[in-house]
Amino acid sequence: MNGRNVEADLAFDRTHVWHPYASLNDPPPVRLARAAKGVEIELADGRRLIDAVSSWWCAAHGHNHPVLVEAIRRQGEKMCHVMFGGFTHGPAIELARRLSALTPPGLDRVFFADSGSISVEVAAKMAVQYQRAKGRPRRAKLVALKGGYHGDTSLAMALSDPDGMHVLFRDIMTRHFFAEKPSVPFGGEWDAADFASMLHVVEEHEDEIAAVICEPIFQAANAMNFYHPQYLRELRRLCDEKGILLIFDEIAAGLHRTGPRWAQDHAGVAPDVMTVGKALTGGHVTLAATIASGEVAETISHGTPSAFMHGPTYMANPLACAAAIASLDLFAAADYAANVRRIESQFKATLAPLAALPNVAGVRVLGAAAVVEARRLPARADIERVIDAHGVWLRPFCNFIYAMPPLVSDAATVGRIAAAMADLAACPPGPPQDGDFHE
Ligand SMILES: *Cc1c(COP(=O)(O)O)cnc(C)c1O
Repeated sequence: MNGRNVEADLAFDRTHVWHPYASLNDPPPVRLARAAKGVEIELADGRRLIDAVSSWWCAAHGHNHPVLVEAIRRQGEKMCHVMFGGFTHGPAIELARRLSALTPPGLDRVFFADSGSISVEVAAKMAVQYQRAKGRPRRAKLVALKGGYHGDTSLAMALSDPDGMHVLFRDIMTRHFFAEKPSVPFGGEWDAADFASMLHVVEEHEDEIAAVICEPIFQAANAMNFYHPQYLRELRRLCDEKGILLIFDEIAAGLHRTGPRWAQDHAGVAPDVMTVGKALTGGHVTLAATIASGEVAETISHGTPSAFMHGPTYMANPLACAAAIASLDLFAAADYAANVRRIESQFKATLAPLAALPNVAGVRVLGAAAVVEARRLPARADIERVIDAHGVWLRPFCNFIYAMPPLVSDAATVGRIAAAMADLAACPPGPPQDGDFHE
């Protein structure tokens, strides 16, 4: 593609194509990507950027992994899609089998969704149908955590931080209940007071609550908060005591982002329903899954209606299922937990000194997620300059300069990412931001 076409394409894009969380009037700059391979994205002018964000935390094995590309190609030659009402197929059956084997014992009833947000909607609807089937129809609300994020569709939004990015849509959302953001950090000393807000909300509204939903250990898109595993143990006990379902949203943290396969493994507790997405297909095709316990599935299936009432058009898309099976093969073939521990210790060692910088409020690292919390983000021009100078793609949001690189990143890659983050953290604070509070 020559330079003139690039300019014309970008001009058309600026006026006609909406990007996530962007205005069409003076939109933030976008780069024209033409290829992606391994940990890098290649631009139209041939420059390459390390994808320190794993394209929103999906590209766990790197981009265009040959095994995944081949799996998608081979499935495409046979059957790209067939409706899932009235049909089933090998890729869906095989993927459900694999997921059941990887999730905690008892979680083996799989609903395939086409995105993470939809899998959250599905989990919430399961909780409501479950309580109805138990003869408790008034239990139709959920409890979520402040500082959480569960997606952009309306039910998922209504379960995300009530003071965050979704405040604009308050009037079209159902009100759910919120407990304070967990504040005892991962690795800190547990303080029972951290659970008091959740205890209070559940005790006050227990007759209206179908389920509690949270991102286990790692509140990602909203708060970049790593919290204490004891919180989840307390939560499991409370939900059991009250007959309330527990939903873990593992879309961001699952599949080794924080080290072990599931973030919940840090706490050694399992939910009744969990959601998986993002890295499931290694970031190659959109797919998510809601996985329920036998008890939840059987209760719903003996209720009225006995059908679980959800069914997306592209449910269990075979291309996506084939990619996910190949992705799980890759996870099984190497020691990702060890790789993530290596990335974690390198980030810890290289980023810790940044805590002394004047514009840095804190530094925290868990697994392959590294966060430098700025007092205020640097100016847009500084961010662009650092990305170009280092050849490292970073996408800071709120006050967070963060990296969640592909889990296969080697030491040189992690070093370059850390250097770019350090450069950015040393920049002066920029002007206050306007609405750009998403990842
Ligand atoms: C990204 C994310 C979602 C939403 O997934 P989409 O595929 O963007 O709809 C839900 N929950 C968590 C924890 C996420 O990080």
